[in-house]
Amino acid sequence: MKREIVISRACPVCESTDFTGLFQKQVLQLVRCADCRTVYVNPVEESLTTGEFYDRLATPFYLSPAKLESDYSPVRFQRELKLFRRFCRSGPVLDVGCSTGAFLFQLKTMFPTDYDVTGVDVVGPALDYAEKQGVHVLRESYLKKDFQGRTFAAVTFWAVLEHLLNPRAFLAKTVSLLSPGGFCFVLVPNFQSLAVRLLGAKYRYIFPQHLNYFTGSTLKRLVEAYPEFQIVYAGSTHFNPIVILQDFRGRGQFVSDEERAELLKRTTGYKQNPLLKPFKLALAGVEALLGGLNLADNIVLVLQKTGR
Ligand SMILES: [Zn+2]
Repeated sequence: MKREIVISRACPVCESTDFTGLFQKQVLQLVRCADCRTVYVNPVEESLTTGEFYDRLATPFYLSPAKLESDYSPVRFQRELKLFRRFCRSGPVLDVGCSTGAFLFQLKTMFPTDYDVTGVDVVGPALDYAEKQGVHVLRESYLKKDFQGRTFAAVTFWAVLEHLLNPRAFLAKTVSLLSPGGFCFVLVPNFQSLAVRLLGAKYRYIFPQHLNYFTGSTLKRLVEAYPEFQIVYAGSTHFNPIVILQDFRGRGQFVSDEERAELLKRTTGYKQNPLLKPFKLALAGVEALLGGLNLADNIVLVLQKTGR
């Protein structure tokens, strides 16, 4: 097996190179920035930053029947779609890190005449699938792509910034691509969630694909580097108690791709089962409560580019 090249990094939020070790999980070394307190992986294996890793992951995870069924079910992006619709009513939409295209597919299906959708990603096999579903995709690095003056009413990053070596560059590019008054949607896992507080390093989403571990305050700090952005919404969303139960009982090893996809599918199945409606209502109540306390699984920000 070839040896991985590792890259040592500066803080993805403030670019400081001062850090202290936080903890080690198998090959993963998490550190905390001494200046802004952001938690991030340092060093990082090079294959995680080029798309090569995700090409290898495509078949066991992104294109597994379980993950596809879960992603393409109408409940998968329910929260994201509701929030999106609240702010952006029409226009060209770019989904960065679109993977198999499920978000854009749902958006187009729900509002066929309102949006002109494009996805961009570097993972070939996932994009093949997106195209088969009729989603227009660009097979290029977002940072390298020349959009030739094209602008967007909205750019979305659903669970993307945590995967990036340099999230700042992605936000800077987004500033230049949004029309004045346009919106940028950012969702990332919450490093101060109830799940992380209960499970610590045992939490399954502390794993090699995630390079950055944001909290509400470090994500805001990242965004504040761009004065063109105004935060118009900040919240915390999603709650999966099954993950907490499973990881609590687990041994703190990385959870296999197949196993993660299988649980996502099962959870989606529960959400669609009418017999579980009372349980779902109770869970929605807990999620709302955790959201209010910023303890839910993800953090969401909606940013508006100033100047109409
Ligand atoms: Zn920092």
